[in-house]
Amino acid sequence: MMRVFRNAGFSMHRDVDQGVYTVEIDTEQSDAVIEAEGRAEQIATAASLMPLFYPTSIAVIGASRNKTSIGGRLFNNIINADFNGPVYPVNPKASVVRSIHCYPSVADIPGSVDLAFIVVPGRFVSNVVQECAAKGVRGVVVISAGFSETGEAGAQMEAELLDIVRNSGMRMVGPNCMGLQNTDPSVSLDGQFGPIMPRAGNVSMSSQSGALGLAILDYATHLNIGISTFVSVGNKADVAGNDLLLFWEEDPNTDVILLYLESFGNPRRFSRIARRIAKKKPIVAVKSGRTSAGARAASSHTGSLASLDVAVDALFRQAGVIRVSTLEELFDVTALLSNQPVPKGDRVAVVTNAGGPAILAVDALESQGLTVPELSDGLQARLKSFLSDEAAVTNPIDMIAAAGPEQYRQAIETILGSDEIDALITLFIPASDLGVSETATAIREAGEATPDDKTFLCVYMQSGGAPTELSSGDVGFPTFSFPERAAKALRKATTYAEWLSRPEGKFVEFDDVDPARAKYAVEAAMDGVGESVGVDGVWLDPDAVDVVLDSYGIVIPKAQVVSTVKDAIAFGEELDGPIVLKVISPSAVHKSDVGGVALDVVGSVDIGAAYEQVTNAVPDPEGVLVQEFVAGGHEILIGMVEDPTFGPLLVFGLGGVFVELIGDVAFRIHPLTDLDAAEMISEVKSAKLLEGYRGGEPGDIEAVTDTLLRVSALIEDVPEIFEMDLNPVKVGPPGAGVRIVDARIKVRPIAGSWIPSRMDLPSKI
Ligand code: ADP
Ligand code: MG
Repeated sequence: MMRVFRNAGFSMHRDVDQGVYTVEIDTEQSDAVIEAEGRAEQIATAASLMPLFYPTSIAVIGASRNKTSIGGRLFNNIINADFNGPVYPVNPKASVVRSIHCYPSVADIPGSVDLAFIVVPGRFVSNVVQECAAKGVRGVVVISAGFSETGEAGAQMEAELLDIVRNSGMRMVGPNCMGLQNTDPSVSLDGQFGPIMPRAGNVSMSSQSGALGLAILDYATHLNIGISTFVSVGNKADVAGNDLLLFWEEDPNTDVILLYLESFGNPRRFSRIARRIAKKKPIVAVKSGRTSAGARAASSHTGSLASLDVAVDALFRQAGVIRVSTLEELFDVTALLSNQPVPKGDRVAVVTNAGGPAILAVDALESQGLTVPELSDGLQARLKSFLSDEAAVTNPIDMIAAAGPEQYRQAIETILGSDEIDALITLFIPASDLGVSETATAIREAGEATPDDKTFLCVYMQSGGAPTELSSGDVGFPTFSFPERAAKALRKATTYAEWLSRPEGKFVEFDDVDPARAKYAVEAAMDGVGESVGVDGVWLDPDAVDVVLDSYGIVIPKAQVVSTVKDAIAFGEELDGPIVLKVISPSAVHKSDVGGVALDVVGSVDIGAAYEQVTNAVPDPEGVLVQEFVAGGHEILIGMVEDPTFGPLLVFGLGGVFVELIGDVAFRIHPLTDLDAAEMISEVKSAKLLEGYRGGEPGDIEAVTDTLLRVSALIEDVPEIFEMDLNPVKVGPPGAGVRIVDARIKVRPIAGSWIPSRMDLPSKI
């Protein structure tokens, strides 16, 4: 018997008798689609996960007659959901489970098995999985706990398990998970041990926490959000969020992807995949561990230590992932995106039958940065023609308490038909039970006729919840219980829409850089200190810093390191202008704090005095850096720190020494596109100063952008750099460029050999 499962662009053919899967790429697909970047990876991954979501036969190893045990609940769920294929209970201690013949081991099952659920004590799992491999099982879902979440020994067991799985070509969900579900009627698989099988819908979800997964299914059902597939990934030893994203990328049953994350396995891969998928389907993510208290909970839980929150924010922003901070927001955004198109813009109208809640809605919308524009005279006149004289029609449109179904219907139709707004929030606050059903029906009918270029949301405010006309599963728009929640969800959707419409950034290659020279300076610095470099790394001395930055066209003022007053005066004469003297000292991290910097010094007498001053400021002077004095200009910070999980993070901000105090900075994950660099600058509020705010002197923003991109190129080519602080960078007026007057660079050896990507190109050496 053959079964065929179609995914967009390819189909899986399952020969049930032979236990063979084949993948066929649709011939009508253009070569361009097939050859598109990542397509091969996507098809291979999606195909490998097919047996998990579309099995033709299932074994439940550890199926139990005890209905309260996990093995009993899981088996019952699969049977109760009417899985579309044979289900074999496996349990050496039972001959029958729920009137179904039970097998002592998976090897004893007469037919082929695609998918096995494993609910045996942790120490037996390896053996059972080995038997599954021998039987030709294609996917295993390991519910059993006792693996890496318990410590060293468990991690060892998990590694062995993964070896078996990888060697046999199976895919594994878990261990230590709750299971998975696929509501597609062609399989109807409820492969988890919780009590809820949600209704079928277009939302797919992966959860790193099993218990939370339960709560999510419960709420989704309560809020009438239909689920396509649900996976509790547990320890994600094999199948992780990235694989699931690839499965859902072209899955015709999935329109919205939800992720509950506690940790990232491979953030760089996530970023690459999510960037592509978010262009097609919204990805909504809750990343826990946001606060340090949350981080502690996450580390004692399935997830590992929470990573720097700014890194997560940067990652999500760059990849177009919609980040929500609470589960409530997760559902609100999902309810909106699974039913309505993303907003075309930020102009919102509010229709209401009560003034107070409308004011709350407008406040919430505006504080989220959305606009509630006054409607045109023409549109106001049309609204007036059917509304009572007391109604307000500027926006919000307050139809007052007397408004009935016809007013609602006409107001919604009139506003949705205009091109003055992008989204409409309709508030309905029933004064009594009278006429609720009629008005709700009118709102539903008018709201469901929303044209494709508008986004429609409803708010029904009453503690009893919305009537069925507005809450049943097939309503084509979301109904919220509070205006603030609707406004927040709309904001998230609008931000996502803005990301969708922004142009693709480009990774800029510089051909005037000298990676070999920079690298040489870095290695020389590390050689000099030998073994002691270790994992802590070493700060480059000012000369090496100069060489490294100069190799990448990052502009530093003319400078020289001297060790006598005479040399300082000589260099000052050579520069022929005011100079700066800075003490070089291992103990002074911030030189100016201790009086180790003398600015704007002219003439041999003053240079001599300044030399004395800066060298006496510290106990351990190692020399003096003499620099040309850069007058005027704005002071900015460009920095880099390496996050252990996310890799290099770049930071930009204004304010020189005050930057930490003000905290007005932008982070991005390396590598930067030209657009990322430009956005980093525009995102920082105080960067308005660079535009010549209120008659102030403007700065050379182009040169700042260029410097950010050059820093990104430098850390790409010289991964030994793991901390960098260019503070301050002096920004001259447009066309005058920037000068890095203070730079610190920390390096440490990298395991393995260094072959920067651009060195592969002979022209770049
Ligand atoms: P540190 O950060 O260790 O205190 P800096 O080298 O950054 O020392 O110098 C302190 C401040 O002096 C800078 O923030 C900047 O305002 C000013 N400064 C430093 N070098 C120059 C220079 N070459 N031209 C003009 N101003 C400078
Ligand atoms: Mg400084």
